[in-house]
Amino acid sequence: MKKAIYPGSFDPVTNGHIDIIERSKSLFKEVVVLVVKDNPSKELLFSTEEKIEMIKESIKHYSNVSVDSFEGLLVEKAKTIKADVIIRGLRAISDFEYEFQIALMNRRLSSKINTVFMMPNEKYTYLNSSIVKEVARLGGDISAFVPKHVEEKLKEKFKLK
Ligand code: ADP
Repeated sequence: MKKAIYPGSFDPVTNGHIDIIERSKSLFKEVVVLVVKDNPSKELLFSTEEKIEMIKESIKHYSNVSVDSFEGLLVEKAKTIKADVIIRGLRAISDFEYEFQIALMNRRLSSKINTVFMMPNEKYTYLNSSIVKEVARLGGDISAFVPKHVEEKLKEKFKLK
């Protein structure tokens, strides 16, 4: 049984991410959700600490899932924490090219680490953090897309309450 890492921006964590975590936790001995530390190429709404808190709350019932953050090369972080597998979610063909490129580059950088792609329930295939933020900013109902505590945080950010 392997130790897996699930890296991403998680700005914020959505039900799509949680679907992937739930599938992964029964396939691997241990799953570490890894929040990428403030990436200047992405416009982020939440700080790393806020993102970690929201993920922690979402995974509190899972005994073999934890959360951590990282900066720099993912394969280096994987080596440091002795993880063998990288989990990524695949929603549609549009994700494929980008994910394929990263997976092959990571394998080139560290041949021992394999990337495993997981597909979420089809109801989450159109879901991403950006669209959730946009709908929340405009005051739309996001209760089907994120856990309750994340919905509350989004409302606070956009001063909707
Ligand atoms: P990144 O900036 O690394 O893409 P994201 O937080 O957007 O960070 O995504 C992290 C991982 O979760 C990626 O592998 C992405 O494909 C996957 N993911 C994001 N949203 C969903 C979803 N709705 N269903 C399944 N996988 C998802």
